[in-house]
Amino acid sequence: MGEFGLIERLSRIIGSPSKSVVLGIGDDAAVVQSPNSKAQIPNKFQISKSKFKTKEKLLLITTDTLVENVHFKLHGIPRELKALGEKALAVNISDIAAMGGLPTFAVVTIGAPQNYSVKALEHLYQGMLSLCKEYNIQIVGGDTVASPRALLISLTLLGEVEKECLLTRSGAKVGDAIAVTGSFGGNAAAKFDFRRYKIKPCLKAARALAKTGWVTSLIDSSDGLVRSVLEICKASKVGARIWQAEVPRSPRANLTQALYGGEEYELVFTVPGKKVDQLKSEAGKLTGCHIQIIGEVVPRSMGLRLVNRQGKRIIPRQAGYEHFR
Ligand code: ADP
Ligand code: MG
Repeated sequence: MGEFGLIERLSRIIGSPSKSVVLGIGDDAAVVQSPNSKAQIPNKFQISKSKFKTKEKLLLITTDTLVENVHFKLHGIPRELKALGEKALAVNISDIAAMGGLPTFAVVTIGAPQNYSVKALEHLYQGMLSLCKEYNIQIVGGDTVASPRALLISLTLLGEVEKECLLTRSGAKVGDAIAVTGSFGGNAAAKFDFRRYKIKPCLKAARALAKTGWVTSLIDSSDGLVRSVLEICKASKVGARIWQAEVPRSPRANLTQALYGGEEYELVFTVPGKKVDQLKSEAGKLTGCHIQIIGEVVPRSMGLRLVNRQGKRIIPRQAGYEHFR
């Protein structure tokens, strides 16, 4: 059973969520009614109609954990620890961005073996704090525990999104174009060498895309490009064609790394075919980053296929990185 199979089993035990949960297990972050939303307040406690009328916001919650020797290897260089701190937060920011939202508050859990110095952990925090500053996030708590051998960093990040800006994996329609930001395979090619890591979640781009109102589905590419498209397909009940030659590749990355490598924070999204020209011409202005169309959404019965220039099928090797394989 892979990681995804395990999550499916666990989510069956958890059961279906209550009405205040907009989106439970299965997207980049959970979406719940925000505490000040009327939906959660029983009628008799609600303040009269329009008195406090604001744009309805939803609360986003995501969590991600990094474990030494599973997700990273360290040689004890301070700069590496700083980059590790950045990465731990970046993966979470990327998940909030992938919902169209803005990150707000974080709690951080550290499991540290005894051989880690206070200084080392401070470097780790400096990494997190530099991203906190850049993305306007506050660390408001956490937990510190001993760990027998491996360093562990677990982060829970909250965020918020206007109801109209919420983007999920599930809105892709047949005829939509599949688009991506940036390029792929670079971090996989870097093989946990943090000096070559690109750690920059596409928050601005995601917000800009959410505000256009054109985007039908959005996901981040942390588990690999093909896996991301597959997740959109599963959630949206559609199929996809990926034009292999159109996939933007990072320097030094080979095709397999670009398609399946993961470990990166680009955006994968769909837009209606008729919006493609507008998106392309305004993309730079909107998002400040390069946008490339890499395929199209097709009926579910056609499955997910990688095709070459002639439209011939290429047999995919594997769909992204899975922890429990
Ligand atoms: P991502 O790669 O975007 O961080 P994951 O693949 O880790 O997402 O998780 C996919 C979905 O499964 C998410 O909605 C996540 O919250 C949920 N999930 C993962 N692990 C568990 C778990 N142990 N219990 C409940 N839900 C989980
Ligand atoms: Mg994600």
